[in-house]
Amino acid sequence: MGNEPLILVIEDERPIRNFLKSALQTQSYRVLEAGKGKEGVSLAASHVPDIILLDLGLPDMDGIEVIKELRAWYTAPILILSARGQERDKIAALDAGADDYLTKPFGVGELLARIRVALRNRVRREMEEGGGTVFSVGGLKVDLEARRVFIDGEEVHLTPIEFKLLSVLVKNAGKVVTHMHLLREVWGPASTDQLHYVRIYMAGLRKKLEKDPARPRYLLTEVGVGYRLVDE
Ligand code: CA
Repeated sequence: MGNEPLILVIEDERPIRNFLKSALQTQSYRVLEAGKGKEGVSLAASHVPDIILLDLGLPDMDGIEVIKELRAWYTAPILILSARGQERDKIAALDAGADDYLTKPFGVGELLARIRVALRNRVRREMEEGGGTVFSVGGLKVDLEARRVFIDGEEVHLTPIEFKLLSVLVKNAGKVVTHMHLLREVWGPASTDQLHYVRIYMAGLRKKLEKDPARPRYLLTEVGVGYRLVDE
């Protein structure tokens, strides 16, 4: 066949690399592997994989630097593999252009689900360049162009800031969006330390969009990192 998605794994620990490789191959993904950052960057350049799985702790290069080098030209998804307690690195990786992350140890099911979401988002992004502006998931429908939001067919009225916040999440649906990213897009670059803005407006959005704001169905919290709008 040869047209199954090609996945590049950049990870220095051989047991983890082998685990990833066999999990991916059972799904017929094609797999390329690199144990170092430099080798990973050059394999990415020569093969242009559909997704890159990147370990942040590499022997020769900082994972964040790998992302920056890749993002100079590489537009497909980058999924980070990080250790527990590396919140700061995870956030830096997302802000440098990674799409999502998995915290070690993770299960095969979670890994494959994240890869499917990332591949689907890529297809959707490509479609959107054709001009689609209506997003829907479950009972939530957001028309970005008409600036209208519906829950189970009923229109919901949002304030301009609530709408802006929701639209940033819609444009990144399925992906985690960091607090910093939201602050920058909604309130501007001078407000990136005003974390409470996001908390207050997210609480307001949930009150309007969620049946049970304490147990959200659409607007999920990624503890210590940001928020994720579900896309399925
Ligand atoms: Ca490592």
